[in-house]
Amino acid sequence: MAPTLRIASGLLAAATAVSGASWIPSFMTKDVVIIGGGAGGGYAAVRLKEDFHKDIVVVEKASKLGGHVSTYTDPASGKSFDYGVQNFNNYGPAAAFFQRLGVSTGPAPPRIPLATQYADFTTGAQVNWTAPDAAARSAALATFLNVTAPWEDLFIPGWTNFPQPNQIPADLLLPFRDFVTKHNLHAIVNQVFQVTGSGAGNMMDALTLYVLSAFGQPMIKTFLGQLGALYTASGRNIEVYEKIGQRLGNAVLYNSVVTSSIRTSLFHTIFVKNQVTGKTTVIFTKKLLIAIQPTPANTEPLNLDVYEQSVLSKFNWQTVHAGLVSHPSLPINGSVVNMPAAAAPDNYLVLPTVDYNIRFDYFGQNLFRVLMVGDKNFSKAKAQQLIRNTVSKLIQAGTLPASTAQVQFPAWADHGPMHMHVTKQELQNGFIQKLNSLQGRRDTWWTGGAFSHQFQALIWAFNDLLLPQLVAA
Ligand SMILES: Cc1cc2nc3c(=O)[nH]c(=O)nc-3n(C[C@H](O)[C@H](O)[C@H](O)COP(=O)(O)OP(=O)(O)OC[C@H]3O[C@@H](n4cnc5c(N)ncnc54)[C@H](O)[C@@H]3O)c2cc1C
Repeated sequence: MAPTLRIASGLLAAATAVSGASWIPSFMTKDVVIIGGGAGGGYAAVRLKEDFHKDIVVVEKASKLGGHVSTYTDPASGKSFDYGVQNFNNYGPAAAFFQRLGVSTGPAPPRIPLATQYADFTTGAQVNWTAPDAAARSAALATFLNVTAPWEDLFIPGWTNFPQPNQIPADLLLPFRDFVTKHNLHAIVNQVFQVTGSGAGNMMDALTLYVLSAFGQPMIKTFLGQLGALYTASGRNIEVYEKIGQRLGNAVLYNSVVTSSIRTSLFHTIFVKNQVTGKTTVIFTKKLLIAIQPTPANTEPLNLDVYEQSVLSKFNWQTVHAGLVSHPSLPINGSVVNMPAAAAPDNYLVLPTVDYNIRFDYFGQNLFRVLMVGDKNFSKAKAQQLIRNTVSKLIQAGTLPASTAQVQFPAWADHGPMHMHVTKQELQNGFIQKLNSLQGRRDTWWTGGAFSHQFQALIWAFNDLLLPQLVAA
C-alpha cells in the first residue's frame, strides 16, 4: 500500500474513532476492492484472500452472495428448490473448489418425469409439434461438437485468445439460423434453446458466437456424457455461496453499492453506501476488481474514463427472470412449453422471440418454474404480467382447464442484465481486443459473465487466468 494512502486512511480512521459519531463514514484501506459477490466476485474473493494473501473487501448489493443462485425454501414443508442455477459444470477448478469449501456433492436430484405439451404462448393455443427423435438429436449434437471443437480455445474460459478481427472464423459471425442450416443441426435447436441457449434472446438471429457463449462446448460435452456436472448433496446450491460468505466473514459489505469513486494512478477512493442502514464506508485501495455486469447503470458511479465508456457502451444485453409460480390450472407433473404456431408440425428453426417465458415446468408441491428472457426493459412487473396474461390465454384457448384463481409468485429472482453482446460489425472492429485491453488499465480488472461466459465454472476458470495478472501488477 502506498505510504500516502496509509497515512490518509490512518488519519481518517482515527478521526472516526475519536468522534464516535454514527453519521461519520467508516474508512478502510484494502489491497483490492471487489464489486459484486456472485460467481466472478465470490470466487475471486476467496482466491485473493486465501491464496494470494490479499486484504480484500467485497461490495455486494444483495443481502447474500451468489448472484444467480436462487434457493427457495418452502416455509411449510422446509423443502428447498433451486430455481436459479441448477448445477455446476465439472470444468476447470470447480470440483477442487467445492472440496475446498467443504461442499459435498451428490447425484443429480431425481427428475420428476414431466408430460410435455406445446402451446403458442402468444395465443394460448396448443401446437402439434413433434420433437426430433433421440437418434437424430444425438447425431446432431455430435456434429455440433465436431464443428465447434476448433474454436473452444478461442473464447473459453474467457476471450483472451480470441482471434484478430480479420481472422474470426466466418461461421462464428453467422446468424445461428444460417449456421444450423449450413451444418444440418436442426435436430438440436430446441434442446439448445430449452437448456441455456435462450439466454441469447432471439436465438436464431443471434450470432453463432453468442449462442456458443450461452451453450458451448462444455454443455455439448455434458449432454454427450463427456463432462460431468456437480450437484450439492444438500440440494441447496446457495450452500456454495454461504460457505464463501463464512470464509470471507466481515470482508463482505452486504446490502451495499458504490455511490461514487475517484480513480487515480496513485489509488482509488470508493464510496460505498449500505442501502439498509444508510451508513457510508470510504475505501482506499490500489486495485479494483469489477464483478458486476458492466451496464451504464452499474458503471455510472465507477468514474469511467472516455476509453472505458467507449468500449463498454457497445454492449447490448438480455434481461432474465426466473421464478416459482402457482396456479391450479397448471398441470401437476407437466411441462407446458412455449412453441410458436409456425413451428408445427416439425419446423425446428422457429422459436419464441423476446419477451418470452420458455415454459412452465412442474417443480414439486404446487410449484412451477418459469424462465423468462426479454430485452433491456424487461422489468419484474412486465415479466409477472406476461405470466398472468399467458395463463389467461392458455385457459381461454382451452389448453389449460378453467379457473378464476390468480397466479401466485412464491419466489422470484430478477436476474437483470445478462448475456452481454455486441454486433458483428463491432466484433470486426476489434471489440474483443478492446475489451481485453481494459484488464489492468487504471489498476482495474473485470470479471464475470461479460468477460467470460454465463456459467459458474467457466467464470471461475477465467478468474484463475486473471487473478495472477492482477496480483503481479
Ligand atoms: C436462471 C438462471 C439459471 C442459471 N443456471 C446455471 C447453471 O445451472 N449452471 C451454471 O453454471 N450457470 C448458470 N447460470 C449462469 C450463471 O449463474 C452466471 O453465468 C453467473 O452467475 C454470472 O456471474 P457474474 O459474476 O457475472 O454475475 P452474478 O453471479 O450475477 O454476480 C453479480 C453479483 O453482483 C451483485 N451486484 C449487482 N449489481 C451490483 C452493484 N451495482 N453493486 C454491488 N453488487 C452488485 C449481484 O447481487 C451479484 O451477487 C444461470 C443463470 C440464471 C439467470
